[in-house]
Amino acid sequence: MRKTIEFANNLLPIHKFQNGTDRSVVIDFSRYNFQKQHFPKASRRDWKNWQWQIQNSITDLEMLDRILPLTPTEKTELQSLKVKLPLRITPYYAGLIANLGKNHPLRKTVIPSLNELKMSFGEAADPLHEEDDKKAPGLVHRYPDRVLVLLTDFCSANCRYCTRSRLVGQEHTVFDFDKVVSYISEHTEIRDVLLSGGDPLTLSDSKLEYYIQKIRAIEHVEMIRIGTKIPAVLPQRITPQLVNMLKKYHPLYLSIHFTHPDELTPETQAACRLLADAGIPLGSQTVLLKDVNDSAETLKKLFHELLKVRVKPYYLYQCDPISGSAHFRTSVDKGLQIMENLRGFTTGYAIPTYVIDAPGGGGKIPLQPKYQIDENADYVFLKNYEKNIYAYPKKK
Ligand SMILES: *Cc1c(COP(=O)(O)O)cnc(C)c1O
Ligand code: SF4
Repeated sequence: MRKTIEFANNLLPIHKFQNGTDRSVVIDFSRYNFQKQHFPKASRRDWKNWQWQIQNSITDLEMLDRILPLTPTEKTELQSLKVKLPLRITPYYAGLIANLGKNHPLRKTVIPSLNELKMSFGEAADPLHEEDDKKAPGLVHRYPDRVLVLLTDFCSANCRYCTRSRLVGQEHTVFDFDKVVSYISEHTEIRDVLLSGGDPLTLSDSKLEYYIQKIRAIEHVEMIRIGTKIPAVLPQRITPQLVNMLKKYHPLYLSIHFTHPDELTPETQAACRLLADAGIPLGSQTVLLKDVNDSAETLKKLFHELLKVRVKPYYLYQCDPISGSAHFRTSVDKGLQIMENLRGFTTGYAIPTYVIDAPGGGGKIPLQPKYQIDENADYVFLKNYEKNIYAYPKKK
């Protein structure tokens, strides 16, 4: 094979359409090799089948070490580790990480570490006190007009910093959909229902449609939202069938969990395009993670890549203080600095709201760099992105 230009994910475009879009047909040789090496029995069709991806996910250390080789230290550490949050990585995402290389920051977002056992200052299993706001099994009602429904405790990739690690993959979560539906029906103030989990898109089309249909049938529910990480870790799940089902229930929004620009592979881009073409407004949610994405350059790149596939950056979260998360958490100052390096320097659409989900159940609180620096009787004094000072008249 001729040596060609290497793209970020070792992608080799073999043909570009002439219409000026970035739709390119690509053959991903190195990932194809990954598949051949580690899943030799899988056909191309298997690989593209999301159920196959889930069934063949990495869930134990032996398989992990075989596919994403561990360092000797990691191996000894992990053998003694009884983590609360189980290990789970799809073959697709493992292939991505393998291709990105040993030191790529995404690796540590899915591979367990001994640090998860260290309890640090202010950490808790349920820092957001979701259990206190639980109004029915699987339903959290915190804000006046909207609720969060935890449809499943299953996720196709278990993030090591997961806010719901107390639930995800635990197989003992109580969920009573009939009670959820009666609660929402009785509370006419609820106009927005957010389906989350776990990952709702790991349910079958028919099960998911059953849930969505029941909620859509409640007259005062104006919109439905789904929170998911699927387009990043299992883009094979975004099939035309799924998308055609979802678009029957508009207005339906999707909030997608993205961490790093290198997640925007051709498969993931195609999944986002399919969803956007079905008229589903797409937003992203990103957790600010130490040594993973905690720089303005990395996040700017991520947000630009997202806008290219019509995903609007929605929230940037300060990492929740769940038990054993200290190694993932940055300072709030760092987050503010990053925001300061985005606003004004790039498209306003590329800028998410930076929030802390308040420990104790206070909900999401937005944080802003200090732009309003002073005021007197006549003026409010403001600082712009270039740090120049401007005055806005207060009096009329
Ligand atoms: C995040 C969240 C919501 C939705 O919040 P928005 O700011 O409207 O996106 C609703 N309920 C709970 C419990 C949440 O954590
Ligand atoms: S996608 Fe969300 S719910 Fe699932 S493991 Fe990651 S953080 Fe947790």
